[in-house]
Amino acid sequence: MSATGAPRSGVRGPAKVTAMADADIGVIGGSGFYSFLDDVTEITVATPYGRPSDSVFLGEIAGRQVAFLPRHGRDHRLPPHRINYRANLWALRSLGVRQVLGPCAVGGLRPEYGPGTLLVPDQLVDRTKARVQTYFDGEPLPGPASSDATESGGGTKWSGRVPNVVHLSFADPYCPAGRRAALTAARGRDWEPVDGGTLVVIEGPRFSTRAESRWHAAQGWSVVGMTGHPEAVLARELSLCYTSLTLVTDLDAGAETGDGVSHEEVLEVFAQNVGRLREVLFDTVAALPETTARDCPCVDAHGGLDLGIELP
Ligand SMILES: [Zn+2]
Repeated sequence: MSATGAPRSGVRGPAKVTAMADADIGVIGGSGFYSFLDDVTEITVATPYGRPSDSVFLGEIAGRQVAFLPRHGRDHRLPPHRINYRANLWALRSLGVRQVLGPCAVGGLRPEYGPGTLLVPDQLVDRTKARVQTYFDGEPLPGPASSDATESGGGTKWSGRVPNVVHLSFADPYCPAGRRAALTAARGRDWEPVDGGTLVVIEGPRFSTRAESRWHAAQGWSVVGMTGHPEAVLARELSLCYTSLTLVTDLDAGAETGDGVSHEEVLEVFAQNVGRLREVLFDTVAALPETTARDCPCVDAHGGLDLGIELP
C-alpha cells in the first residue's frame, strides 16, 4: 500500500541515469515518503525486465543518498499482482542501492495487532500464485528495453546472457541489520514495534475470506499483505539487504467481528500513520550501516555460486 500525495515542486526531472552509483539505500513505498524532502531528482531507469513501477526519486536523508520507488506507481495504478517486482529491484541495484526498506500496509491476524501497529517481521510465508519470483530461470536475459537503455541501468552488459539455475538460502528472509535499525528507529519515536512475526503474502487483489484468514491465524502467522513477496526473495537474489516494515491498517477478516476489511478503511488508517512511518523510515535510513561496512549474510547470498550473469 502506498500513500497518496504529490511531490513538491522541488522535484526535478525525469532525467536519464548518467551515474552508476546514485544511491545506496532504496525505499519501495508511496510518494508520501519522499514528497517532503527539499531536493528530489526524478530519473527513469530501464532494465532488462522492462519498466519499474515508476520513475525513481533520488533524495538525501542524514547524508545518505536514498532512491524512492513508488511500488504501485505514483498514481497507484498498479495492483499488487501487476507490479514488475523484478524490474523494481533490478533498477534499484543498478543505481548502487544495496539496502532496501520495504514499508507496506497489512492486516492484523491477532486481535492485539490492531490498526496502527508497527510490526517488523522476521519470517515470511508465500501464498502468492502467479508471480515471477526469480532472476535465475535459465532464460536468456532480455535485451535493452529501449534505444536509450545503453545509458540506463548499467548499460547493455546484461543483453543476451543466460543466468544459471541457482537455489539460494531463504531461511531467514530479512536482513538482521536492517531489522535492528528499524526497531531502534521506531522505539526512538516512541512507537513500540512488534519485534518479529510472520508476514503471509497473498496474491490479491481481493482480501482474504474469513476461512482463509482464520487459517492464517491458526498457523501462528502474524500479519497478511499483498506486496511483501516476491520483493524479498528478488532482493536476496541480487544480494540486497531487505527489511520489511509492516503497518497494520485493519484486523483481517478472521480476527475481527464486523463486516470485514474495506479498501477505504485501509487507506484512511494508512494516511493517519504515514507521517510517523516516514519519521521511522528516515531514522532507519540514518541507522543503517554504510554499504561498505555491511557484515550481514545478505552480502554473500550467492555463496560463490556462478550466476552466469553479471549483476547490475
Ligand atoms: Zn543485510
